[in-house]
Amino acid sequence: MENQSQLAVDEEGLVAFAQELIHIPSLSMEEAAIAKKILERMREIGLEDVREDPIHNVVGRLNGDDPAVELMFNGHIDHVPPGDMAGPYSGEIVEGDRYGYDGPVMTGRGACDMKGAVAAMIYAAKAVRESGIPLKKTFLMTAVSREEMAKGEGILRLLEEEGLTARMAVSGEATDLQIHLGHRGKLEFTITTHGRTAHASNPDRGINAVYKMCDFIDDLRTGYELSSHPMLGPCTFAVIDILSRPGRLGPITPDLCEIALDRRYLPEESAETVQKEIETLLERRAVSDDDFRWEIERVKDFPPFFCEEDQPVVKLAKAARETVLGDPGKISVWKFGVDGTFIHRAGIPCVGFGPGDEGFAHTPEDHVPVDHLVRACRVYAEMIRRACG
Ligand SMILES: [Zn+2]
Repeated sequence: MENQSQLAVDEEGLVAFAQELIHIPSLSMEEAAIAKKILERMREIGLEDVREDPIHNVVGRLNGDDPAVELMFNGHIDHVPPGDMAGPYSGEIVEGDRYGYDGPVMTGRGACDMKGAVAAMIYAAKAVRESGIPLKKTFLMTAVSREEMAKGEGILRLLEEEGLTARMAVSGEATDLQIHLGHRGKLEFTITTHGRTAHASNPDRGINAVYKMCDFIDDLRTGYELSSHPMLGPCTFAVIDILSRPGRLGPITPDLCEIALDRRYLPEESAETVQKEIETLLERRAVSDDDFRWEIERVKDFPPFFCEEDQPVVKLAKAARETVLGDPGKISVWKFGVDGTFIHRAGIPCVGFGPGDEGFAHTPEDHVPVDHLVRACRVYAEMIRRACG
């Protein structure tokens, strides 16, 4: 086996930088200040062609002999609202036992999702730069805005409008330092049933849209078979909201009922095929019930992705992890969705490796273990060295 000496990482600088990033509030669409900080730091470190685009994506490179990008790192710089989290911008370092972690952790909104990872990726570039290793191939860091809005707006601007590309990519979203290959996709539909109002004292004169919806929900729960993926797990559906009209203004039976249906889906499915399945259930119901009138609208689509384990980028991640941490890690998938899906869909195989536990993302306990930052940074540096050195 290879036994390369590891690159020296500026641990103190990394920890301080992660804290600085947490100190700067950066809700989606409000990333100007944090983008400025990242831009400045990337320039200080010596990344090349560092620039910020009009929506506050920041990119920078380590140029190799070959200008085509071999390896792209991706992280986002926005975070969700802090809610009632205590000290969301403190970046305070506390003992991790309160979160079940043995060692100090850095707290704050976006600590694990994902300012810690962004800092670690940038400091990995610093470690490579300072090592003086000549690069044959080019590395690209992308620190993007507008991820938490779940439409990939930031990364898509870089991929589609600027045509950024790479041979392979790593998403730094939290994987607990393991290797993640993808996630299920999420679709959301609005489904409506229609009826006819009547006086509630004489309901048989109307057609109750709520009862029609109940029939359909029964069909879903008893007759909707879903497929499964060996790694991503089963597809699921869930009714996440329901409303009826005209409501409780008077004693009147509703002539409209609407549900929001969440459907998690797999890479081998598409939004169209899933919608068709649900339409088939609705149509079947309409055949057996003349009064069943319905509509369906697809309102959200966050695509799934799965990077096959034999992809070079997965081998790279495993090898780098093994060199630095002693083993290639556990292969798993995310529960949540990440911008990596848009990168992968653009034809750039993307794997996940990041500090922190995704279970704490968006919670009042948002934190990242300090030693995860350092270890992730070392693995990232090793990835760049292997891919580009
Ligand atoms: Zn995230």
